[in-house]
Amino acid sequence: MKVLGRSRSGLAKESAFRFTIRENMADAANKYPENVPGKFYVDDQCIDCDLCRETAPANFKRNDDGGHSYVYKQPETPEEEGLCKEAMEGCPVEAIGNDGNGA
Ligand code: SF4
Repeated sequence: MKVLGRSRSGLAKESAFRFTIRENMADAANKYPENVPGKFYVDDQCIDCDLCRETAPANFKRNDDGGHSYVYKQPETPEEEGLCKEAMEGCPVEAIGNDGNGA
């Protein structure tokens, strides 16, 4: 049976995959060195899907050589803060953290 263009078995596999990868929380110990100091960061689980750069372009950029995102500016307004949180919640592999210690 097709649901929104996908078979049920496909949806089940996708759900299982998302459940599995959701257990992998971002880890400040594995954040990329390009991240600017501050609480938001991207760690080495990034799969370069582009979601964060689309959601919060004022704060996330792509490292073209490495093929991943990083935080190039910490949020400076409530709006940017909200977009960074939205990007963090939407990241499919939880590669974005907000517990950086500013180092
Ligand atoms: S949303 Fe997550 S996986 Fe996608 S580019 Fe940003 S940090 Fe990487």
